[in-house]
This record gives sequence, structure tokens and C-alpha cells, in this order.
Amino acid sequence: MRTILRCIVVVFYCAYFPLTQAAEWQHFTSTAMTTKLDLEFWFEDQKKAKELSLRVFGEFDRIEAVMTRYGDTSELSTINRLAGRQTLPVSSDLFKVLQSSQQVSALSEGAFDMTFASVGYLYDFRQRQVPTNLEMKQKKKAIDYRHVQLNGKTQTVHFTHPNVKIDLGGIAKGYAVDQGIQILKQAGVQFARLSAGGDMRLLGDKKGKPWIVGIKDPRATLKKNNNVVALPLSEVSISTSGDYERFFIDDNGERIHHIISPKTGRSVSGVQSVSVIGPDTMTTDGLSTAIFVLGVKKGLALVNRLEDIDVIIIDAHRQLHFSEGLMSPAHP
Ligand code: AMP
Ligand code: MG
Repeated sequence: MRTILRCIVVVFYCAYFPLTQAAEWQHFTSTAMTTKLDLEFWFEDQKKAKELSLRVFGEFDRIEAVMTRYGDTSELSTINRLAGRQTLPVSSDLFKVLQSSQQVSALSEGAFDMTFASVGYLYDFRQRQVPTNLEMKQKKKAIDYRHVQLNGKTQTVHFTHPNVKIDLGGIAKGYAVDQGIQILKQAGVQFARLSAGGDMRLLGDKKGKPWIVGIKDPRATLKKNNNVVALPLSEVSISTSGDYERFFIDDNGERIHHIISPKTGRSVSGVQSVSVIGPDTMTTDGLSTAIFVLGVKKGLALVNRLEDIDVIIIDAHRQLHFSEGLMSPAHP
């Protein structure tokens, strides 16, 4: 009788308190920074996984509140209002992103330039609105990343031209993805994929297999298969910049889109999409925008000089270009 009782107790205990809970892939989505967030990671406890996903998504909201150009309550908006007249203190999150922007600007000889916004803010892609020639003339001189003076010791910013406006749309999502991955790592997660629109970071592999990441056809229609390339990747970041994200076709049939040449103040042509692979997402995000502006020749030359960075460019004729690191070694 006692043995039977013991067995019943054991069965009951095992049913309600499993000794090891089976881990599984946990998948969550949300929206922030005007884009879709997608998170997948390997974790045991579903309830804790949900809590963790909310912390990751909360980090995007926190960063967005600091760095958004929309509304006038963000720290970025305050800087845009005042830094042309006075030196301002900057929070450490924002300072890191400003510093990184300036590094990508120097590396790309000004192809990436957060002050593009001095003219860029005059575009409204939904309203099909572009700057007038007069506005362009008045505001273009304010585009130059060297107008943004950062002081690392005092963590302050100052603009040396009164009309400068900055925008971090080309790099802030990458920073947020890196921060999200840090939160997952600190919680003991080993395998994860986190993306915000075109910016993705992979933590580890997909439990023994690489993650398969597709590069979208920049001219995909809803009906057709969307991907032109599928890449097996692990433990890297990949960011794609495309002329299909925010755009309209004007009355002359020209595509007016969100990546702006700091030299001309106009949308860049010559390339349809650029995907950069590298060790962290703030770097790949900044570089994908920079290389889009540089175009095929200068973009490939820059990437081939950089260690740990690779690129896939789809040009205006839909031709694919790969950096040296992605090409198989030449046959003798
Ligand atoms: P991405 O999709 O990462 O290439 O980011 C595109 C966004 O970067 C645009 O929507 C703008 O907010 C911003 N941007 C556009 N042109 C430039 C540029 N030349 N340098 C830096 N940021 C830019
Ligand atoms: Mg970018």
C-alpha cells in the first residue's frame, strides 16, 4: 500500500513539477521606431521569455523616446532646436550614437552624414513633397558632419552652423538592436535573432545550424518570392538599406526616396539595395546607409579595406555585387 502511495506521489510530482522544462524557440513581434520588431530565441520558461521580450521591446521604446525626430520632446529635438546657439550636455546613449555617426562619416568621407537632415527634413514622402530650389539653396550649406562638434570629456554637443539639423534614422535602430541583444545575453540567452526592419543581429547560431537570412528583392511584388539571396549566418549583424523603404515616384517617373546624398541634397540613384554584414548592428546600420550613398565602386573599395565587414549590393540594373570576403577564392 505504501509503495503504491509513493508511486502516486511521484507521478503527481512529475506531472506538476517537471524536473527539466523543455526549452523551445520563443517568438515575439512588436513595433517601434516606425518599424517591425521581430525576436526569436531559445528559452525554457514561456512566461519568463515573454517578460524578457517585453524588456527588449521596452529598450526600443526608451531609445526611440531619446532619438526620434518626431515631436519636440526627444533629446534629439532639443539638440536640433538649441545646439546651433549653445553647447548642450548629451545623455550617454545619444552620445554613443553621435560618436558612432561621426566615425562612419569620417570613414565614408561624408557619404554618411546625420546633418543631411538640414535638407532632409524638407522631404515628405507620403505627401510627395520635395524641397524647393530656394529652400535647397538656403539649407544645403548646413549639411556637413564637421559642423557637429562633440566633446568627449564634457559629453556635450555644439553645432558650428545655425541651420544644422541632425537625424539618426540611418543608425539608431542598429544601436537599439545591439542593446536588445545585450539584454538577452545578460539573461543567459545563447541563441537569438533580433531584427528591427532591415537591421538584424544574430546571437550564436540556430542551435547547431546557421540562421538563414534572406535579402529581399528590392523590386519584389507581393505575389513573387521576395528573396534574391539566402545567406547562412551566425553570430553577426546584417543591415539592409533600400530605395524601396520610403519613396514615391514623381511626375517625371523618378524615384524620390529616403537616402539622401549630402552633396546634392537629393535622393541617391545607382543602387537599389545594400546589405552589410559585420560584428555589431550599429556599425552595419551606419555602413549600409553610407555605402548606399557611395555606390558600387567606392562602396566595394571601402568594404574591401575593412576587416570583418562584407557587403552585397544590388545596383540599378539589378546586378549583384559581392565584397571579396563573400567570393569563393579564385581558382589557380
Ligand atoms: P537605412 O535604412 O539604415 O539606410 O536608413 C535610412 C535613413 O537614414 C533615412 O530614412 C534617413 O533617416 C537617414 N539618412 C538618409 N540619408 C542619409 C545620409 N546620407 N547619411 C545619414 N543618414 C541618412
Ligand atoms: Mg543604416
